[in-house]
Amino acid sequence: MTEESLLDVRSIADLSPDHRRAFFQRDAGIGAVRDDVRDIVDRVRTEGDVAIREFAEAFDDVSVGNIDVTDAAERAHAEFADADDPRLDAIREAAANVRAFHEQQVPEDYRETVDGRELGRRFRPIERAGVYVPGGTAAYPSSAIMGIVPARVAGVDHVAVATPPADEINPVTLAAIHEAGADAVYQVGGAQAIAALAYGTETVTGVQTVVGPGNRWVTAAKAEVRGDVEIDFLAGPSEILVLADATADPEYVAADLLAQAEHDPNASVVAVTDDEGTAAAIVDAVVDGIEGRDREETIREALAADASGVLLARSMSEAVLFAEEYAAEHLSIQADDDEALLDRITNVGSAFLGPYSPVAAGDYAAGPNHVLPTNGGAKRYGGLSTETFLRSSTVQRLDREALADLSDTITTLAEAEGLEAHAESIRRRLE
Ligand code: NAD
Repeated sequence: MTEESLLDVRSIADLSPDHRRAFFQRDAGIGAVRDDVRDIVDRVRTEGDVAIREFAEAFDDVSVGNIDVTDAAERAHAEFADADDPRLDAIREAAANVRAFHEQQVPEDYRETVDGRELGRRFRPIERAGVYVPGGTAAYPSSAIMGIVPARVAGVDHVAVATPPADEINPVTLAAIHEAGADAVYQVGGAQAIAALAYGTETVTGVQTVVGPGNRWVTAAKAEVRGDVEIDFLAGPSEILVLADATADPEYVAADLLAQAEHDPNASVVAVTDDEGTAAAIVDAVVDGIEGRDREETIREALAADASGVLLARSMSEAVLFAEEYAAEHLSIQADDDEALLDRITNVGSAFLGPYSPVAAGDYAAGPNHVLPTNGGAKRYGGLSTETFLRSSTVQRLDREALADLSDTITTLAEAEGLEAHAESIRRRLE
């Protein structure tokens, strides 16, 4: 494939219906693995550790000894600490920023009295959470921080972590998992990890909520176990949509596209601009930036997908409409009046405003969470947060007068529903 055909500038107005669908109904290859994933999940549910070991051989080419690697995480952390390894400092600083941002999300219990009715809401953490930390083709210590720290801030009792097996698991990932505060760490990846966390095995403790990002197997497995356990949402292969006007620096835009493209061959990267010269310059900068990258092949595959491209809009209004329909995991706005453009967009996982807010800042260390909805999920829900690990319940206390004030309303509705005993439970108290 030539560089030119890899990334053409296309006009939004000229996109075929099929091509529009590729952008707006992207599924990142998840549909194609649903059947395989169902089998994997069933086998882990029925066969436990035996299935985990077999899938590790098949998909990760690893013969797993101990599935539980909690001690290895502690050791990796101790070695980094003993050596004053600067990577541990980076983990600590990133975790501190993420912790501070997520502490602001802890809701306060409240009670207020309205016409004699004392009404309130309480928030309590779930007891056991499972965090998936990806690690198939890249290492993701950052995802360890993003998943574990909010669970700890919420006050979850037991945080279990699953990460893909390896002859030697990436020590930075292990150190981050320990630093962020995991209670148990298991070497199991992909769909089998999600099933193990959801249903438990001889070694893995089952949890109430499974969170975390991953590739299409991980994401399809979360869809599969949803209902038996809670999940955060579907956080699949990465996406970026950049809104750029003529003031944008095409080099910055291209750098951000390349950065998200290196995550996964199923990643989706899009720039939309109303300026022809900017569109052409973004394409040039992307093409110039591909060769020699560590993950060049992955980048090429992601860029070649139908759901990736550089698009020319007739106006920034048309660009905004496109972004709203696309509902990006990451929305970067590199344009003159970024706040005004953002005001017009509801469907977005996380927004990055201005030339000095690259998505990579949020991926690692700015503070907001990087576990975000993909495939248009941002139309329905937001990213991982402290609330993901909390349950809310309501409280009410009425005094006699408040009950008397409401009695006609309650008994009328109860009788209209044919629930006479409900009405009687009010009258009995007011006789
Ligand atoms: P991963 O941990 O998600 O997946 C690795 C596992 O996939 C392996 O352990 C293996 O079990 C399984 N697998 C691989 N090939 C398989 C096959 N043919 N059949 C069955 N199972 C198979 O790691 P990764 O692949 O490096 O992907 C990480 C993903 O996480 C990327 O897609 C990245 O974009 C995404 N991500 C998303 C977000 C978000 O918030 N949406 C954040 C960070 C990362």
